[in-house]
Amino acid sequence: MPLMKSWVESANTADCPFPLNNLPCGVFSTDDTDARCGVAIGDMILDMAEAEEKGLVSLAEVALFDVPFWNDLMEEGPETWAALRARLIELLSEGASERDQVEKLLVPMADATLHLPFVVSEYTDFYAGKHHATNVGTIFRGAENALPPNWLHIPIGYNGRASSVVVSGTDVRRPWGQLKGPDDARPHFAPCKRFDLELEIGAIVGQPSDGPITVQEADDNIFGYVLLNDWSARDIQAWEYQPLGPFQAKATANTISPWIVTKAALEPFRTDTPEREVELLDHLKDCGPMLYDVELSVSLAPEGKDATTIARTNFKELYYSAAQQLAHHTTSGCPMNPGDLLGSGTISGPEKHQRGSLLELSWSGKEPVQLDSGETRSFLEDGDTLTLHGAARGDGYTIGFGECAGKVLPALDDPYKR
Ligand code: MN
Repeated sequence: MPLMKSWVESANTADCPFPLNNLPCGVFSTDDTDARCGVAIGDMILDMAEAEEKGLVSLAEVALFDVPFWNDLMEEGPETWAALRARLIELLSEGASERDQVEKLLVPMADATLHLPFVVSEYTDFYAGKHHATNVGTIFRGAENALPPNWLHIPIGYNGRASSVVVSGTDVRRPWGQLKGPDDARPHFAPCKRFDLELEIGAIVGQPSDGPITVQEADDNIFGYVLLNDWSARDIQAWEYQPLGPFQAKATANTISPWIVTKAALEPFRTDTPEREVELLDHLKDCGPMLYDVELSVSLAPEGKDATTIARTNFKELYYSAAQQLAHHTTSGCPMNPGDLLGSGTISGPEKHQRGSLLELSWSGKEPVQLDSGETRSFLEDGDTLTLHGAARGDGYTIGFGECAGKVLPALDDPYKR
């Protein structure tokens, strides 16, 4: 599919992240308006609350967009999602008859503040990247025991905290926690010294389920995708993670990009998962291409310095698709709801520069990463700004995700000082 041309001129360049082919869903406010739903087109945002109020978009008996979240639209279901996309393409295409009315409802993105695009009902984080799991397993347990025995059979995950999910641009404070190094006689309470990122994609569940669903049904229930940085305290994690998995190491913050890129926009970029090393049980088997060819990168900017790209990888490097993760999530009968967020797990590729965390890039501090500023990093320093980028490259157009950025603030002096 080629670039679809819009009368919004800024949307028609090959490298614009928000062409008519994309139409991602966000929540924005301005000096004059409360937070409400908007759709990105070029360097503008279409005010969806106004478009609905003016009768330009009419999808349900009730108003869907004069709220600071997309959950209501998600609940309406796939037919409504498709009707919305079709109507937006009609309104924003080159030569659209209602251009004059729609043009008045465009807000320059530069004047808007972006908010979390949906209410995160619950948050689960998976561990579905084989290169990452192999690297981390090798670092923590040695090459012999790198992949746990269950890894090639189920997408491993843990239940995270919805309250930890923040939108791009939110500062992230270095956490304190209980630490115990291999040579320490006893644990101590101190600021994290090995603060890290995890480059992930978050899948957003758009439809409820109340019992086991198939991989195909799971794919049908996914509304869209965001970039996700799972900020990780490696020293807290190393001490706490056995036997129930990460807890406080992963609860400080999870930053997501502000625009939900819909499954429909990513349709031309579907790819298969990598070859299975062991046959999956029937209920988790692939039933079509459910990963996506999305280029991903991470940049790190020390305070006041230029950013260096420290990793480049691709969404298609995952071993399990989000649909497989969601299907597995429901096998117990676990109910899923619109607004459920599923982190993919760190997406690393096979090469060293494709590693999606500093733990892997610096091999646990043994091989510090060189920055353009002349500094090196094994883990994050105070003042560092971390930014994730994502782009699917089509024929003369780009499907962008918007930035997923956060700056590390220093730890508090003493969080228990009253
Ligand atoms: Mn993670």
